[in-house]
Amino acid sequence: EVGVDEIINDEPIDRCSWEKDGRRNAESAVRTKPAPHRGADSMTGAKGAPPSDSIDGAQPTDRQHPVHVAELSALEATSHAELREAIERYEHCDLKESARNLVFSDGNPRARVMIVGEAPGADEDRLGKPFVGRAGRLLDAMFAEIGLRRDSDIASEALYISNLMPWRPPGNRNPTQDEADMMKPFIIRHIELTDPELLVLVGNVPCNALLGKTGITRMRGNWHEFRRKPVMPTFHPAYLLRNPVVKRDVWIDLLRIRRKLEES
Ligand code: URA
Repeated sequence: EVGVDEIINDEPIDRCSWEKDGRRNAESAVRTKPAPHRGADSMTGAKGAPPSDSIDGAQPTDRQHPVHVAELSALEATSHAELREAIERYEHCDLKESARNLVFSDGNPRARVMIVGEAPGADEDRLGKPFVGRAGRLLDAMFAEIGLRRDSDIASEALYISNLMPWRPPGNRNPTQDEADMMKPFIIRHIELTDPELLVLVGNVPCNALLGKTGITRMRGNWHEFRRKPVMPTFHPAYLLRNPVVKRDVWIDLLRIRRKLEES
């Protein structure tokens, strides 16, 4: 009612008051600021730290560790519906608290091509579907150029789309390393259950999680492998919206995807 439309941090920060030592609280806020916004650095996002043993300062036993809980829960799912329920039941990721909706997937689960993005934005969070905002419309237009559409019933002409993170990070920041680590088992299971012929990873965040590498500028255009499946990393469409000149690079990536599909 007072105009607050999104949560950007777990704790409120009083930027106007003074701390005892005279420094403004805003300065200490800078020291504790959350991860950068997605898109702001999706070109350069550094490789995160390896999974830490301590999430939120707790020292869980191995079996209680959020990543372990996620792995077991994901492995038990034998269908997309069960996987979605497993994610809905998963209580360790705080993003769930601030998100409006779980964003699981869109498109045809029998598609030959599966796209994995970073995390939902505001439009996706509102509608519960991946890539439905401006960047999503560009993604659709790009893949339509090589004859692939998320609304096609024909597997060879269809797309299936999901994200590493099923919940929107507040303020569109990048997911933290802990958040990405705990949701990774779910996207891996999602890929296993979908069993596409090839994967397209858009932006650095899914490349870091699934290939253990970042540096999309160097990686894009070349085939990589995830669990014996060919993987094409490419620029995130949100980056293309800000830098239309790199559309020609993405066109090359799309042509390579089309050629790979024609070959197999
Ligand atoms: N960006 C992503 O990576 N995924 C979405 O679903 C929307 C925007």
